[in-house]
Amino acid sequence: MPVIEAFDLYRFYHAKEEETLALRGVSIHVEAGEIVVVMGTSGSGKSTLLNCLAGLDEPDGGYVQLMGKRLTRRPEVERAWLRAAYIGILLQSGNLFGHLSVEDNIRLSMQLAKKVDQTRVKSLIELVNLTKRSLAYPAQLSGGELARAGIAVSLAIDPILLLADEPTGEVDADTEKGIIELFKMRRQARGATLIVTHSNVLATEADRVIRLKDGRVIDE
Ligand code: ADP
Ligand code: MG
Repeated sequence: MPVIEAFDLYRFYHAKEEETLALRGVSIHVEAGEIVVVMGTSGSGKSTLLNCLAGLDEPDGGYVQLMGKRLTRRPEVERAWLRAAYIGILLQSGNLFGHLSVEDNIRLSMQLAKKVDQTRVKSLIELVNLTKRSLAYPAQLSGGELARAGIAVSLAIDPILLLADEPTGEVDADTEKGIIELFKMRRQARGATLIVTHSNVLATEADRVIRLKDGRVIDE
């Protein structure tokens, strides 16, 4: 059973007279222990796909299964629980709550999944090299620090599925290497990882690369 599976996803946006066909029949799956990279030019539908896989957005057609359980077309409370329990999500921005420190942001994710582990809070902070900044608030962090803090939050519950939108977009080459190491550790621990990226360095580390163009998968 794949960790996540999407069947024939469609997503349309309507703005006044204009209709954007953001996803036009996308089917993908990620198995345990797999790192899958999604690439495509700006506007090809990558973020829309990720949001549908995370249950943050509802596709207009098709459906998503997470660990064999349907994620789409469910009340938001149920989707929120599935997300909290199974999925680590790293968006392009807005991954941390501004009124909480780095440490408290990580702890909050754990609390939502009923998986608080103070030792893991500390080790995650070490893993992303933020030991000296653990009590800082998001507004006090540099771009690179914020990106690393977001990664720590997304890994808080050691999620069965990690969905990451441009995780290395804002970081230097050394930090990118460190982040890739974290993803590889997930592979060993049999976690499923799906990463939207423009980075060829990241793509060469993937088990599979999926290319999107105009809302469709063009080749694998
Ligand atoms: P990518 O992440 O690959 O750059 P997106 O998934 O963000 O692509 O966008 C796919 C298409 O859908 C683009 O044409 C974008 O302009 C459009 N789109 C995305 N979100 C919205 C929205 N909330 N309302 C209207 N159009 C949107
Ligand atoms: Mg995007």
